[in-house]
Amino acid sequence: MDKELLHKKVKKDLENLINDNPPERTLGNLIPLSIFQAVRIGVLTTGCGIEAIIYNIGKDIGREVISKYVDESNLFESFADILSKAKIGVLEVKKIDENEMILVLKDCISCHNVPNVGTTLCHFEAGLIAGTLEEKLKRKVNVVETKCCGKGDEYCEFLVKVEEKIYW
Ligand SMILES: [Zn+2]
Repeated sequence: MDKELLHKKVKKDLENLINDNPPERTLGNLIPLSIFQAVRIGVLTTGCGIEAIIYNIGKDIGREVISKYVDESNLFESFADILSKAKIGVLEVKKIDENEMILVLKDCISCHNVPNVGTTLCHFEAGLIAGTLEEKLKRKVNVVETKCCGKGDEYCEFLVKVEEKIYW
């Protein structure tokens, strides 16, 4: 399997979605939330440390795709706009300071309407926030989901720790 080719295709499709130019398909380009969540939750329930893999996929897409469209002069408003365009969720800032932030994601693609299963489910979204902010801030960013519909909360909440300055 040519993973590089698949990664390129997925990233290009996501960019097209952000640019209002979705791929042509007879049935349309949007999949029902229930199908997406069936796959996401199905993968999560296999265990085997899959959460870290999903976090890293989100981080990669955040760094390489989403961050390109986020304007640093208007960071969170612009980030929220892209996440909404990509139909991932509605982002709000709850707390922000130099080294720590609390971000809220409502209407989240991964956990919207999921019953209380006693755990957080949105590792992709956490990674996406980490990758996007790392690229924009040029600092190491760690994100942990602290509230989630999967834990019985009404929306997702992410604790964002911004660490030392990095250069690449
Ligand atoms: Zn969640």
